[in-house]
Amino acid sequence: MLTGKTALVTGSTSGIGLGLAVALAKAGANVMLNGFGEVESAKAEVARHGGKVSYHGADMSKPAEIEAMVRACEAEFGTLDILVNNAGIQHVANIEDFPVERWDAIIAINLSSAFHTTRLALPGMKQRNWGRVINVASVHGLVASAQKSAYVAAKHGIVGFTKTAALECATTGITHNAICPGWVLTPLVQKQIDARAAQANISKEQAQKDLLAEKQPSLQFTTPEQLAELALFMCSPAGDNIRGVAWNVDGGWVAQ
Ligand code: NAD
Repeated sequence: MLTGKTALVTGSTSGIGLGLAVALAKAGANVMLNGFGEVESAKAEVARHGGKVSYHGADMSKPAEIEAMVRACEAEFGTLDILVNNAGIQHVANIEDFPVERWDAIIAINLSSAFHTTRLALPGMKQRNWGRVINVASVHGLVASAQKSAYVAAKHGIVGFTKTAALECATTGITHNAICPGWVLTPLVQKQIDARAAQANISKEQAQKDLLAEKQPSLQFTTPEQLAELALFMCSPAGDNIRGVAWNVDGGWVAQ
C-alpha cells in the first residue's frame, strides 16, 4: 500500500513510535527512525518487516538538529511523504513545584518539534501534492489531568496546530491529523506505574490496575499495533478527506 513512500517517525526507538514504524514498514514504506536508547534493536525490528530503514539521532528539542534530520531523510530516500510526530516525554508535578527546565523540554519536544518537522517537510509534500502528517497527541490534548500541566499544554497545543495545518493544506493532497491515545503500556507509562506503586506502597500489578480504573473505562491498555492500524487508515486513500481530526483511542476515557 505504501511502497515507494518514505516515512519519518520521531521518537521511534521505543513504544508507540516503534509500533508505528513497524506497521509503516510492513505496508511497504521506507522508514527513517529517530530517538534515543535501543537504536540497533529498533532498526533490526523495523528492517525485518520490509523496506529500507535508516536512523537519525536528532534531539527533538534542537531545531538545527531537526532540520538536519529532515534534510537527511530527503537526501537518502528522495522524498518525505509521511511524517509522524511522535517523540514525547512526561513529567508529573504540581505547577508550583514544576522544574522550569522540564516545562521547557516538554514544550520543545512534545509541541515545537512538530512545528519544525512540519514546516520543513511541507515544501516537498506540496511539490508532489501528497503527504500525511500524523501527530501523536494524547487524550491530554482533549482533557486535562492534575500534575501534568506542561504535557497537557503541549498536547492541547499540538491538537490546535494540527487543525491549523489541516486548514492551510485543505485544498492539497496533504492531510494533517492527530491520534489521541489513552493509556498505552510503554516505558513512558511504566514509569508512572512504578511511581504510583512506590508512593502508595502497593505492588506494581495493583498500581497498574488502579491507573486504568481511574481514567480508562475499558480497563484495557490500547496497544501500539491498534494505533498503527489507525495511522495506516489515515495514510490510505480512505483518509484523503480526513483533515484536522483529533481521534481518541482511549477505552472511553474522554466519553466520561
Ligand atoms: P516512550 O518513552 O516509549 O517513547 C518515547 C520516544 O521518544 C523514544 O523513542 C525516545 O527515545 C524518544 N525521545 C524522547 N526524547 C527525545 C528527544 N529529545 N529527541 C528525540 N527523541 C526523543 O513513550 P511512548 O509512550 O511510546 O510515547 C510516544 C508518544 O505517545 C509521546 O508523544 C506520548 O506523549 C504519546 N502518548 C503516549 C501515551 C501512553 O499511554 N504511552 C498516551 C498518549 C500519548
